Amino acid sequence: MAEYAEGDLVKVVKDGREYNGIVMPSRSDKIVLKLKSGYNVGLSLDGADVTLAERSQQPPKPARKTHPRNPGLPNISILSTGGTIASRVDYRTGAVSSQFTADDILDAIPELTDMANFNGHVLSMIFSEDMDAPVWQNLARACHEEIRNGADGIIVTHGTDTLSYTAAALSFMVRSPVPIVLVGAQRSSDRPSSDNAMNMICAAAVATSDIAGVTVVMHGETSDDFCYVHRGTKVRKLHTSMRTAFQSVNVPPIARVDYATRNITPITGYPKRGEQELALMDKMETKCALVKFYPGMSPEIIDYYREKGYRGIVLEGTGLGHVSTAWISTLKKAIDAGMAVVMTSQCINGRICDRVYSTGIDLLNAGVIEGEDMLPETVLVKLMWALGRAKDADELKDIMHKDYAGEIHWRSTL
Ligand code: GLU
Repeated sequence: MAEYAEGDLVKVVKDGREYNGIVMPSRSDKIVLKLKSGYNVGLSLDGADVTLAERSQQPPKPARKTHPRNPGLPNISILSTGGTIASRVDYRTGAVSSQFTADDILDAIPELTDMANFNGHVLSMIFSEDMDAPVWQNLARACHEEIRNGADGIIVTHGTDTLSYTAAALSFMVRSPVPIVLVGAQRSSDRPSSDNAMNMICAAAVATSDIAGVTVVMHGETSDDFCYVHRGTKVRKLHTSMRTAFQSVNVPPIARVDYATRNITPITGYPKRGEQELALMDKMETKCALVKFYPGMSPEIIDYYREKGYRGIVLEGTGLGHVSTAWISTLKKAIDAGMAVVMTSQCINGRICDRVYSTGIDLLNAGVIEGEDMLPETVLVKLMWALGRAKDADELKDIMHKDYAGEIHWRSTL
């Protein structure tokens, strides 16, 4: 295997397929390539043959600009975690640069300097598929710390794939009197169609606004006119590559941010800056799983999780919240053994109602908890959080049915 470094052009042959691209920041067991198309591909190095095609010509590092603090502007902390928003490739030189620190971001997007004073911290440098509950907990503690130290708002830069899980996790773990805005980019800043700068500028507008609590700010439509502000517990990535991938589910977005003027137009109500006391509730039970049901699926997966000591399962059932009637006795056995089982729907939109059909009524009698109008991933994260707090099954059910961060709407508005 050839010696290579970030920015080098390499050829990788794996499982009979050939990939040519520029080496991006990668973990030691993987190689991530920026392909000519602009897309990234991550390959395990196991069984891969890597040959060097061209060494990168690293350009001299530009002199770092200093960004003086303006005492009249709010103080915003940027917590970087990784993902596309944090990297760029210069195709002319092949150099990979990482925009992790606040100064890197301000150098790349100078418009931000008129909006706030920024303070940056690099918490991790990972793709968001590598996130897990301990990373969410670290992030929650870091947000809490920054706010306690006087930050007027927080921006979390994050890979888009699992951004909505992290947004839900922060929504439950941090009660915040100031904005906590998660932002990503579908296309990195080296691509002409990048959404990096626009998303970041709109995120800064929200971080300095009166919209408190955890939100996600991403591109709103195919042109570059506005971003939407989504509630952290009600948003999902619904497209693999389009810049408008993020959409609110079951509720309208909270607001829109005009890119040109940075004006924010509210669409729904939201918690206002200063209304809530700061609090950190960072305990989580990680032995929880999300199981998607399909016709003909055996319930033995539930026995597996029970035997492995899992404390909670979220089911992604069909329609109003069903699984095969053949599952009911297995679910009852798991619930009687102390496992919490919460039903959500693979329909994505709408509400769980297990009181309509006999299967649903049998599920409720077995002790299954209805996940109301929450997204499956929000319920998974909420169940982890609820199991970290509840003293018994009754309290757990109460927590799952109580609205803490805009995750449950009792009256469907869409
Ligand atoms: N899959 C990576 C992630 O979610 C890169 C994609 C992105 O940042 O949007 O972190």
